Amino acid sequence: YAKKHGKNRLCFFSQEVLDDSERSSELILRLQESVEHGCAGFTLLYQPQVRAQTGELHGVEALLRWNCPEFPGIGPAEFIPVLENCGLIRRVGKWAMHEAVLQAHRLQQVFPGLSMSVNVSYKQLVDLDGGVEENLLDFVRRELEAFPLGDGRLIIELTESCVIDRLEETAQLMERFHQLGVGVAVDDFGTGYTALGILKQMPVDVVKVDRSFVQSQNRSEFDEVFLKFISLLCHQVGAEVCQEGVEDEDEYRLVLAAQADYIQGFWFGRPMTVGQLIERFEKKQ
Ligand code: C2E
Ligand code: MG
Ligand code: MG
Ligand code: MG
Repeated sequence: YAKKHGKNRLCFFSQEVLDDSERSSELILRLQESVEHGCAGFTLLYQPQVRAQTGELHGVEALLRWNCPEFPGIGPAEFIPVLENCGLIRRVGKWAMHEAVLQAHRLQQVFPGLSMSVNVSYKQLVDLDGGVEENLLDFVRRELEAFPLGDGRLIIELTESCVIDRLEETAQLMERFHQLGVGVAVDDFGTGYTALGILKQMPVDVVKVDRSFVQSQNRSEFDEVFLKFISLLCHQVGAEVCQEGVEDEDEYRLVLAAQADYIQGFWFGRPMTVGQLIERFEKKQ
């Protein structure tokens, strides 16, 4: 690239790389600082998951946010990979799990039986420091003893790609979460290998179909057939379907026709605070 565009380009290119690496080391520093201060600056927002047929609130997904003045508007898609790479995800993940369970316990007083879905990345599941730190399974067990939510009301979301890379290992671990009464959801389904074998080998309670299949702009007939097929398959094997990313009425109709059980998308609500959730859904129940 540099050769083709001459010397000036080479300088420009290096400068860009430098800025990038400066930004990324600043980011690591700030994240470390936050974590050391008890995960200060991290918050969770909750996005509603509604029953497809009725629009009633069924559950919420906890989504991590980080408020840092140096990085305004930064999202989890950017800071979570950094947390994973510098070994901080396990501490932030536990903070998020604790907060989500606590809030779910509170929210169930307003919305009985509400489910709480929490994203978990692979690095949170493995015991990297040889058992020095409590593993996530034991942590979740203690949390649920302190704040019982009811069978299957706490749900762990694992992405399809995370699962398929280590199917056997993940399946065994999820079996143990299942024994605690924790549900398992496969997130972003359809984006990777769309490995249907997951449904056979793992205790999957919910399949979250990726947003790309409903987006109206470049939707094909294939996408519509795919949605119907996935619903049919999931229902046959006892899993439920949650459609991600429904943004308008047209997409909502499509998903209804495909027989999804739940919908999560901007059309029914963006990620919001507990207060906003109560304000928005309390009267409708
Ligand atoms: P995800 O688990 O697939 O979460 C859904 C993402 O889609 C969220 O983005 C949500 O705001 C967005 N979304 C929901 N409905 C719509 C819609 O109708 N249209 C569009 N365009 N987007 C929609 P967000 O909050 O930025 O999170 C991005 C990803 O970061 C999540 O994807 C998840 O993989 C990861 N993440 C978030 N919180 C956590 C966490 O606590 N732990 C871990 N390990 N990962 C997390
Ligand atoms: Mg998710
Ligand atoms: Mg998803
Ligand atoms: Mg997604």
